[in-house]
Amino acid sequence: MSVQVVAAKMAEVELKDVPGKGTPAESPVTPSSAEEKNPARSEPREAGSFPAAAAASPTAEPPASVKTGEPSPGLLTPNAAKMPQASAMKRPEPQQNGGEAFVNRDGTVAEAPRMKKIQFADQKQEFNKRPTKIGRRSLSRSISQSSTDSYSSAASYTDSSDDETSPRDKQQKNSKGNGDFCIKNIKQADFGRREIEIAEQEMPALMALRKRAQGEKPLAGAKVVGCTHITAQTAVLMETLSALGAQCRWAACNIYSTQNEVAAALAEGGFSVFAWKGESEDDFWWCIDRCVNLEGWQPNMILDDGGDLTHWIYKKYPNMFKKIKGIVEESVTGVHRLYQLSKAGKLCVPAMNVNDSVTKQKFDNLYCCRESILDGLKRTTDVMFGGKQVVVCGYGEVGKGCCAALKAMGSIVYVTEIDPICALQACMDGFRLVKLNEVIRQVDIVITCTGNKNVVVREYLDRMKNGCIVCNMGHSNTEIDVASLRTPELTWERVRSQVDHVIWPDGKRIVLLAEGRLLNLSCSTVPTFVLSITATTQALALIELYNAPEGRYKQDVYLLPKKMDEYVASLHLPTFDAHLTELSDEQAKYLGLNKNGPFKPNYYRY
Ligand code: NAD
Repeated sequence: MSVQVVAAKMAEVELKDVPGKGTPAESPVTPSSAEEKNPARSEPREAGSFPAAAAASPTAEPPASVKTGEPSPGLLTPNAAKMPQASAMKRPEPQQNGGEAFVNRDGTVAEAPRMKKIQFADQKQEFNKRPTKIGRRSLSRSISQSSTDSYSSAASYTDSSDDETSPRDKQQKNSKGNGDFCIKNIKQADFGRREIEIAEQEMPALMALRKRAQGEKPLAGAKVVGCTHITAQTAVLMETLSALGAQCRWAACNIYSTQNEVAAALAEGGFSVFAWKGESEDDFWWCIDRCVNLEGWQPNMILDDGGDLTHWIYKKYPNMFKKIKGIVEESVTGVHRLYQLSKAGKLCVPAMNVNDSVTKQKFDNLYCCRESILDGLKRTTDVMFGGKQVVVCGYGEVGKGCCAALKAMGSIVYVTEIDPICALQACMDGFRLVKLNEVIRQVDIVITCTGNKNVVVREYLDRMKNGCIVCNMGHSNTEIDVASLRTPELTWERVRSQVDHVIWPDGKRIVLLAEGRLLNLSCSTVPTFVLSITATTQALALIELYNAPEGRYKQDVYLLPKKMDEYVASLHLPTFDAHLTELSDEQAKYLGLNKNGPFKPNYYRY
């Protein structure tokens, strides 16, 4: 079955879960979703084909922000006052002694806490603040939080090279004489190619997609402009899109996360990439503009992570939307912006929210955190987990992952929760449910994963025992009240990159990781397999939106059809030599399911 046929079928086959049954009541966007209009139909499965009979009633869902408590980013009516400025978003350096004053919690101004002056490599990072060729801050809106922060960021193995010349001031050409790119150093291309090849091994679904759909070129004619992390994993995605027929132009969604060697490999391979590690804010917008603003080339698809690219096009080139068929958005922030746009009636093309796809969510929150909590703690502290007493605040997806990993390592794990359902789950999983004040004196490690604020306040920090490790896995850096530790009587000592000892007058010290920011994001990397899930979801969303017949998707925000979500999962199964059971006709009839899925209603909780 061809990919185009599959895409066409996606509209025809209905979801079993009609609204009213499953659509959450709070859904603010198009409550009368298209699901209601699509009658049920069965589809035969074609072995080994592209997502056979993808069910595709497009589903408008509630904003992700409702689920995650993402702060409002200020959207397309730019409000500079609301948006964090780039300078304010730089990784704060530990305060040094020398007249710095701090505002106490009661509002009074106090002397700075004493700091030991230890210089680390990661403290020296300076970003290019040179004026741009397109003018300074030509938009009143600053780059988004996701431009400096993201779950998917990956470290580059290339350092910032000695060459201080801005890539924008260099004449650049690849070995074929093509110069339609701007990166740090084209000479790193071979190294980058090896990185991409390593990533390919952990991205089986995209590689399978290339093979299955290559002949059909489901993205033939697609002109995709992308703004995501430029990493080896993104390169695998871009090369897959290209193999499926798309032309791609790409900028980085994050000023820190570009792997320079990967950008070089992409440029050498003929991709128009505009990105380097350590861009200034001006560079950031300049790169996006170079992707979009090209004579004789106009994008017809947007792949965004954070919403900055979408914002730029809305602001600078609104007419481009006449030809754009859709937006695929990955991040919580970007999705939130899209829902706001939709609510305001300003969204002028269909958009796919891939952030809330079930498979992606499971991997980002549960499975990724199950692995990276140990990684982040080990890299920063070398702590041995066996026998350690740990308290995990919040038993949602992230908390469950953390607890499972620590329990498996032999730690004694306590859980705090506010929600009786999650609390009961913790009990059933064998964890002691406690209040934080009951265990705070005895625990060796405190981990917050609530998405809430002020979960660990100064009172608890005061009562912790000497050597207690404190870290956060939730979105915001206010789960631990780090600000309350910036008082004169406490001494901060940076002992390693991302590791501070905060020392009390009696000599007690706690070990604060990443200054209370996301531990795994700050101190470890995201496994390629997790990114494979995201990238596959993005590729399928692009194919779906690009091939959707007129009218299937309105100017609204949609979730990837459940059938495609299932397809993303199924593409990853062969990695594990996993053998999926097929429903017999009789069983399918008994359950009222199509033999080829979708297998669950939208309201099903995995
Ligand atoms: P979730 O809503 O499933 O879980 C959070 C849990 O914390 C809920 O069960 C809630 O009842 C509980 N909670 C809220 N306030 C509490 C309090 N004061 N004390 C104890 N428990 C409290 O969310 P999730 O998917 O587990 O995500 C949690 C946070 O982690 C979010 O901020 C999310 O954005 C972030 N996140 C981090 C990563 C990562 O890689 N570190 C990945 C995905 C999500």
